[in-house]
Amino acid sequence: MKRRDLLKGLSVLPLAGGILSGESATGAEVKAVVTNGVKRDLFKELGIRTFINARATLTMMTGSLMQDEVIEAINNSSRRYCMLDELQDKVGAKIAELCHAEAATVTSGAFSAIMLGTAGVLSGNDPAKAAMIPHLEGSGMKTEVIIQKGHNIGYYQAMKNCGVTMVWVETREDLDRAINSKTAMMAFMNCNTNAGQIKHKEWLEVAKKNNIPALIDIAADVPPIENFWKFNDMGFDLVCLSGGKAIRGPQSSGVLMGRKDLIAAARISAAPRGSTIGRGHKVNKEEILGLYVAIEKFIRTGDEEWKFWLKQIAHIENTVKNIKSVKTRIFVPEIANSTPNLEISWDPAILAVTGKEIQERLSKGEPGIELNAGKNNISLVTFIMVPGEEKIVAARIKEELLKV
Ligand SMILES: *Cc1c(COP(=O)(O)O)cnc(C)c1O
Repeated sequence: MKRRDLLKGLSVLPLAGGILSGESATGAEVKAVVTNGVKRDLFKELGIRTFINARATLTMMTGSLMQDEVIEAINNSSRRYCMLDELQDKVGAKIAELCHAEAATVTSGAFSAIMLGTAGVLSGNDPAKAAMIPHLEGSGMKTEVIIQKGHNIGYYQAMKNCGVTMVWVETREDLDRAINSKTAMMAFMNCNTNAGQIKHKEWLEVAKKNNIPALIDIAADVPPIENFWKFNDMGFDLVCLSGGKAIRGPQSSGVLMGRKDLIAAARISAAPRGSTIGRGHKVNKEEILGLYVAIEKFIRTGDEEWKFWLKQIAHIENTVKNIKSVKTRIFVPEIANSTPNLEISWDPAILAVTGKEIQERLSKGEPGIELNAGKNNISLVTFIMVPGEEKIVAARIKEELLKV
């Protein structure tokens, strides 16, 4: 090791401990931790703007950040070969055990899990049928998926990719009437539970009575930790999870779990098999193992992390709450992205600035900070920050509000 590198390491390491244990940190110090050991800063080299994400796990903002244990799993596995199917078998068995499912497989996201799950339901264990998807006409495969109108989120496109027709229902009567010999599956989008008349239990009762597989999308619904297994325990045949939300696994990873025969069928349409709809949904070994570690870690440490997120929120709240007319509110969304949020609002007669203006000033600052804005408020989350960044966020919000 060069002396220069050694000194750099020495000057940064004790600081990392300081930030993690909740001492104050400046922007430059946190940046030093973030870039510690980085030999080639490609963002800088290519002129790509980076920022602190206090907003949400949005795909357009590259989702969430993987934690050290996950990155270690990725790095350590990147120097050896193994058979992809064996890896999927063994990691799938572990994830299934952790999540009370009969079987599981790693996909390239929740969208991919929904698509591969649908493909498996359509083809069963027949590779010739799988190769025909999405051209279902004359194939002997069923062609319809039933979903509630209130569950209309864009991700149902994942099912449509398999060539099925979506059948939209509103009431229990609609549902009973919609079921016919062409019905392949009944899909439930958990985040929109409250926008649909039919809830989990009734949806499953109807599905079981008619022997129709029921799929549920719970992409962003961990935490709470028990959601890893809740919907398997409830009896859903297929459960789809995103690895790139609060679990903070690889951004392009997800899980399809559920009935053994259906997971095996879904894998017929997945890589390494080639002439299938899912060939482009390949997941590399590093991400498969990275996601496994992320899930394991979240089950182990999720409750502690929740407490840490609350501490970060409290720090920001305490930093800004004495500013003239400022009010704060901590809230946790009931379903989907259920993590602590902080809303900071003010009286526009006293602080003549809009949420959008503060949002823009923070975005354009150094370092840039992305968060949500309302009319006379901003709101943020801390669960996807690098620990320590909450200090910068708190100081910057205070600075901007005091300038008004
Ligand atoms: C994020 C999300 C998805 C897509 O997840 P990916 O892992 O990005 O494919 C699907 N459904 C819901 C409800 C989501 O929130």
